[in-house]
Amino acid sequence: MEYAEPPDPILGVTEAYKRDTSPDKLNLGVGAYRTEELQPYMLEVVKKAERIMIDSEDNKEYLPIEGLADFNKATAELLLGKDNAAIREGRVTTLQSLSGTGSLRVGAAFIGKFLPGRTVYLSNPTWGNHKNIFADAGVEWKEYRYFDKATIGLDFEGMTADLEAAPDGSIAVLHGCAHNPTGVDPTREQWGAIADLCERKGHLPFFDVAYQGFASGSLDDDAWAPRFFANRGIEIMVAQSYSKNLGLYAERVGAINFVLADAAAAKRVLSQIKRIARALYSNPPVHGARIASTVISRPELFAEWNTEMDEMAGRIKSVRQLLYDELTKLEPSRDWSFVTRQIGMFSFTGLSPKQARTWLPGRCSLPCCNVENMTQKHHVYMTKDGRISLAGLSAAKTPALAAAIVDSFKV
Ligand code: PMP
Repeated sequence: MEYAEPPDPILGVTEAYKRDTSPDKLNLGVGAYRTEELQPYMLEVVKKAERIMIDSEDNKEYLPIEGLADFNKATAELLLGKDNAAIREGRVTTLQSLSGTGSLRVGAAFIGKFLPGRTVYLSNPTWGNHKNIFADAGVEWKEYRYFDKATIGLDFEGMTADLEAAPDGSIAVLHGCAHNPTGVDPTREQWGAIADLCERKGHLPFFDVAYQGFASGSLDDDAWAPRFFANRGIEIMVAQSYSKNLGLYAERVGAINFVLADAAAAKRVLSQIKRIARALYSNPPVHGARIASTVISRPELFAEWNTEMDEMAGRIKSVRQLLYDELTKLEPSRDWSFVTRQIGMFSFTGLSPKQARTWLPGRCSLPCCNVENMTQKHHVYMTKDGRISLAGLSAAKTPALAAAIVDSFKV
């Protein structure tokens, strides 16, 4: 082996953070929720579900390849709505997989195997791992424009022009809500136009739903886009993750869903994705899936989960507002309104490493890029694209962060 791989652009930030001995250090790299005390948070409903599970003495036998049946039913209903026509008509296929990443990977393998020659279109920018996932599955990917640097908002014209120019029958990867890394989502009207375009061009939308309930605090509102497409009769693929909304990061709980034209197609697709999963990891882990299905299917736990999610989303919204206030106080001449316009866990600050393509925390290839200034001078760890995770920010640390951002924009 001649070459070593550089640290992962997101998880590598945490590694660098751990090496920093400054008491002021702040890790805004990885998208993981922290309390106001900046501690990891275990949801109360998760603890309750685990107690119920211990008492019920379930065994640890292998799950079927497609995963826990109760979980698959619960997760499809959570995604599409309980009384969804596609579910009633047996047109939905769900396979429990290894959180969002594994679900995307199974979907990518399906595309590689059964839709050969079709190109996957990813938003520019997107969550960094999307490119790895499709590339490793041998699927060609290209990018569509998404972010407008001038408005720090959606480049809707660019997005639709690029999807329009893509060959008919391409695959469009769409973030279901709370786009990562920008925090910028299409409006409902814009989603309508994207659905029209996909329908007309025969594109297959592949939704990545990693933040259901975590963006707005409402599970239904955050699932609006994939439901809208499915209810219009458009075939879709959807990867789901319970890392953020149930705080089950390390349990690897998620699913790949296909909403298809008829029940026979759903059966065929299930048989094929089972074959893919069998070769990749054989069958999924049971513990987290039991937690999720217990929480979703018991009304009292479900209600409590919604409250806790609302609290997490609310804490992020409040530090967002505070950051905006602090930035405006320090530098009133600049328009910081993008901070409060963006939604979800992240804020895309507009800080950038300039041409420092090989930027790594502490080893920037250019001496004075402003993201490096955040880390080197202010001990704020963030991804090189200028994304900060507000889920890792406390109210107490917000003034220091605002000062670091204002200072770094001057570099
Ligand atoms: N998609 C997006 C857009 C994400 O932000 C994430 C988590 N950062 C994932 C998928 C998958 O995460 P996980 O594998 O933990 O579910």
